[in-house]
Amino acid sequence: YEIAKKRPHAQVFVVGRPVAVSATKRKKTRNPLNPFESMMGGNGDLEQALKIEKPDTTFDDIGGLKEEKRLVKGLALALQNPELYQKWGTRPPKGVLLVGPPGNGKTMLARALANATDATFYHVKITDILSMWHGKSEENIDQVFNLAKENAPAIIFFDEIDSLGHDRGGSGGMSTDNISRHIVTILLQNLDGLENLEKVIVMAATNRVDDIDPALRRAGRFDRIIPVGFPDVEARTHILSIHIAGAEKRARRKLFDISGPEDFANRLDGVSGADIAELVRRTLEVKAQLDLEGKDPGFVSDEDFGKEIETYERLMKQTSETGFLASRKRQ
Ligand code: ADP
Repeated sequence: YEIAKKRPHAQVFVVGRPVAVSATKRKKTRNPLNPFESMMGGNGDLEQALKIEKPDTTFDDIGGLKEEKRLVKGLALALQNPELYQKWGTRPPKGVLLVGPPGNGKTMLARALANATDATFYHVKITDILSMWHGKSEENIDQVFNLAKENAPAIIFFDEIDSLGHDRGGSGGMSTDNISRHIVTILLQNLDGLENLEKVIVMAATNRVDDIDPALRRAGRFDRIIPVGFPDVEARTHILSIHIAGAEKRARRKLFDISGPEDFANRLDGVSGADIAELVRRTLEVKAQLDLEGKDPGFVSDEDFGKEIETYERLMKQTSETGFLASRKRQ
């Protein structure tokens, strides 16, 4: 509906085929962000692994990452004025790799770029392609690229692209390696087929650049790399403040009474942005529980926050190698 409002002449595209829709017909479309379901009975496989969004994330929602934000903001030129690249005798970037450990803002950066440029955001999880698009991956990936081109400016975001791995050889048949290789080939064909003036950027997130198939990283493909690492103390302070302010805005009242997020940020060395967000959520959950029990929860205090950090540290040490302090070891 938001798109329909913003783009009075927008069309809905089904299976890569443009279908002109009049304003009255468009109103009947249940979900204009999902062109698959509207007219031809849908394509369940494609829908399940593809999320089409008009994100509301802004660059101000992202703590720290100053240089990363600057680099990502620079990509707006390729989405909005690709002809300027031609004018200056060069070509716009097509493929951008966001490289770094999970939970540090890669997806947020891509969403904020989509928001800032009013681009449609096509979010595809490679692991979902592998599990859900069995036998249909070629057709479905082609469709995602077609949709993006028809609805440009657009960003296609491939999450966990490292799950495609390297070409590790193979024994023939439909082994996981063969399927991955097949998907890489289709991605390459579509990347190579993108024209310079198409206003489509393909972004992909990965933990390690070495885990990406080298063919994907050649010139004209994913040749722009933006590292997104763990936040330093200044960035952690910023992230904490953003999540505290976000909760207070949603609740429309003061929730925290802490002396300053810097002290806590200092204690969170090696912790991801996602873990910081989770920590804030936990302090609030404790208050909600007290509320349920009819006690006076008060504001979240320094003591509450400190206690939650200790509990979280203990839990994470016991239960997971993928969260909180353990994340530091992975570096
Ligand atoms: P990635 O794509 O790197 O795995 P995401 O961008 O999906 O990580 O971040 C996951 C969540 O963690 C976000 O929704 C947000 O709540 C929090 N987060 C991560 N990094 C930041 C950051 N720099 N500023 C604010 N929140 C962050």
